[in-house]
Amino acid sequence: MILCATCLWGVCAPAVGPDSGNAAARFAGLAPRLWGERIPGVICRLPDEGSDGAPRLALTLDACGGGYDEGLLHFLAQRGVPATLFVTNLWIRAHPGPFRELAANGLFRIEAHGARHKPASVTGRSACGIGGTTSVQDLIAEVEDNAREIESVTGKRPRWFRSGAAHYDDVAVKVLAALAMQPAGYSVSIDLGASLGPRAVRDRALAARNGDILLAHMNRPRGGTGQGVREAVDILLARGWRFVPLP
Ligand SMILES: [Zn+2]
Repeated sequence: MILCATCLWGVCAPAVGPDSGNAAARFAGLAPRLWGERIPGVICRLPDEGSDGAPRLALTLDACGGGYDEGLLHFLAQRGVPATLFVTNLWIRAHPGPFRELAANGLFRIEAHGARHKPASVTGRSACGIGGTTSVQDLIAEVEDNAREIESVTGKRPRWFRSGAAHYDDVAVKVLAALAMQPAGYSVSIDLGASLGPRAVRDRALAARNGDILLAHMNRPRGGTGQGVREAVDILLARGWRFVPLP
């Protein structure tokens, strides 16, 4: 058994991803040509139809930093609604108890949102006022430091990575593939960065189409996201929609 500072009680996973040892060398020096939220390789919708014919959505909740909307997560647990939670190390360290509870609930899939909530750049590009990672090496640290922190509690290496502000360049997408991470996009931002009131959040969710990946936030308990999501979920469940985790 190997003990380490991150995982004091158990076997630590490998400290790096499947190919991180040489990813920096393989991709260093490549100049990115694309930048944005929906560049090739970023998964923005569910990949295929469900087998039962019911319309389905993936609810994804970002925990960028800041607070914890405990009421929203308890509501989803009560309703049996699965969600995929993208968490940063900033959020995990601010809410260690809730993180363990969420990780222990099989309804919730815990995935990576970065150690420091940086957009996935190899040249330091910014998005939404947030400075991106500055190099391939810096991107790998952003991903792997977060993956290790998550795995130390869940026992599972995350498979999806959503960067800060969900922005990627095309070299970053290649680096993520080498790390066995799927770049997570979204098709509908239902709370626009947790800036909307409950009615607008609800209406944006209700306008979703079959196969959409919805993005909202679980770190702004004083915003309108929680109430809007609760209202939308109840209406969609009554209409026969299904919620599924990211595959
Ligand atoms: Zn975020």
